[in-house]
Amino acid sequence: MLTYLGVAGWPVGHSRSPAMHNAALAAVGLRDWRYLKLPLPPARFAETVRALPGAGFRGLNVTIPHKEAALALADEATDTARAVGAANTLTFLDSGAIHADNTDVPGLLEALPLDPAGRTALVLGAGGAARAAVYALRSAGAADVAVWNRTPERAERLVAELGGRVAPRPEPVEILVNCTSVGLRETDLPFKSLPIEADTLGVGSYVADMVYRPGGTPLLAEAERRGATVVTGLEILVAQGAASFERWTGRTAPRQAMRIAVDHHD
Ligand code: NAP
Repeated sequence: MLTYLGVAGWPVGHSRSPAMHNAALAAVGLRDWRYLKLPLPPARFAETVRALPGAGFRGLNVTIPHKEAALALADEATDTARAVGAANTLTFLDSGAIHADNTDVPGLLEALPLDPAGRTALVLGAGGAARAAVYALRSAGAADVAVWNRTPERAERLVAELGGRVAPRPEPVEILVNCTSVGLRETDLPFKSLPIEADTLGVGSYVADMVYRPGGTPLLAEAERRGATVVTGLEILVAQGAASFERWTGRTAPRQAMRIAVDHHD
């Protein structure tokens, strides 16, 4: 009898999570486990997820547009998922209960190569990824978390719920986290679309980009050229996936095997 894991999204075809998690399962010797892609339209999400434990599922990653719905249908949730208002990881417990967590939060903190305590940070964006980043940085003790978003009302709503402050214009910080989808397309111009100036991204600054794409993003390429320490979206993906894997399997996630699988995905 196989044990199943999976990722539910709409669309979900581009997801690297199946390659990453199947490599991890193989590396730790869980030969009877499989991680599947589940394309689920919003109207079918809740009823399908409730049926998954009966079909042998132990856990589920959840991506756009289901993260809020995943939290809403869970029977129990971590404080982190509740505070962020979204879940990316569901675990089907032996008791029959559905447990919700948000591993984007510990994922970002694990991927950042410095302790944010006492540092200044700027989060670009006000969607689900930005909510997780603001909560992560504030809970790790960042001295100041500024939030900029193209649509300022969303940034205002985010800080009203999660803390931090709205940044109306660019300002130099120690940690910059891009949580917009700018950089996803080859033609995207981050220094035109986002309020950042390339000459603020120098030695001593840390630049993390949630976005990942083959060949890397223009934001990180420029930051790296100027001497900043960069954190790729793939490293953040591996870290959040590792946290989910550990919750479901009780094993230490084989991060290097996961890294290799996401790097060689395309
Ligand atoms: P989302 O909820 O749809 O939010 C998208 C954000 O991007 C919004 O703040 C939006 O601003 C902004 N935006 C979109 N186009 C823009 C443009 N042309 N100029 C300026 N801002 C723009 O998405 P999300 O779930 O937060 O995800 C954001 C990105 O992070 C996605 O690319 C996603 O794949 C990635 N992500 C990566 C990981 C990882 O593990 N590496 C985890 C989660 C998400 P408005 O409010 O003005 O529309």
